[in-house]
Amino acid sequence: MREILASPGATRYILEKYGIKARKKYGQNFLIDAGVIRNIIDAAEINKDDCVLEIGPGIGSMTQLLSEAAGQVICVEIDEGLRPVLAETLEDCGNVKILWQDILKTDLRAVCEESNGGRPLKVVANLPYYVTTPILMQLLEQEKVFSSITVMVQKEVADRIRSGPGHKEYGALSLAVQYYAQPEAVMTVPPHCFIPRPGVDSSVLCLKAYAEPPVECREKVMFALIRAAFNQRRKTLANAVSHGYCLEGRKISREEVTGALEKMGLPAAIRGEALSLEQFAQLSLLIDL
Ligand code: SAM
Repeated sequence: MREILASPGATRYILEKYGIKARKKYGQNFLIDAGVIRNIIDAAEINKDDCVLEIGPGIGSMTQLLSEAAGQVICVEIDEGLRPVLAETLEDCGNVKILWQDILKTDLRAVCEESNGGRPLKVVANLPYYVTTPILMQLLEQEKVFSSITVMVQKEVADRIRSGPGHKEYGALSLAVQYYAQPEAVMTVPPHCFIPRPGVDSSVLCLKAYAEPPVECREKVMFALIRAAFNQRRKTLANAVSHGYCLEGRKISREEVTGALEKMGLPAAIRGEALSLEQFAQLSLLIDL
């Protein structure tokens, strides 16, 4: 059996052998704990029928184990300096294909068509923290391309994603993710599980994509309301929306918002942070008609 890369010794050896320094600008914190990787793969319920998309394989520590568990693994890596490393560490992994490009510029639907005949992929990643939100939103907004997204993110971001009304972490990201997927916490991961150590705790989240949206809404209107509400979260919802709502040049008056809130049985002075996803969805059906 080949040596497991996810250990402090094996990772340092590879980094030194290839003269690689972890690049901060690419959010490189390599996992050195094989137990954490196995938990991620178990949470994602990977089996030989699955085609997995791994974002940012790094030196290949998670990729090796994904290759054993999955039918096929497609990796997208931006740092071409890692080419010689992955050529060695993944040389026995015949079911792994690497696309050397920026995930944010990758045509994910085309990857799904070409590698899995259009059937949904499972995403697994230890995400680069500097672009967590854009990557997650890019993945979630693709309809029927992914069945699940199991990712390591900063613990603070995981808390925001899972939060609900009445909590200080609750915001636009919570609502956006919860509209597309059901987030489940898998585990918290301390800094010593990485080289180099990040300055924060991390968490693994599993996002199970909904086949159909969980609420009935006018999607663009709802997200414009959510943006306006949380851009000025200390204001009442009616004030925040009358000042900040902007969709295709249209505006909404304070009275229109309070009228809709009244129909929903909510007080005129309520703040956006008190509304659930269902309530934002309902509001989108009553406003900007
Ligand atoms: N998967 C490896 C591990 O767990 O040890 C590395 C994880 S490291 C936190 C993030 C990885 O994402 C790095 O390999 C980095 O080069 C890559 N990366 C950063 N930005 C990227 C982007 N926009 N597109 C694709 N890969 C990116």
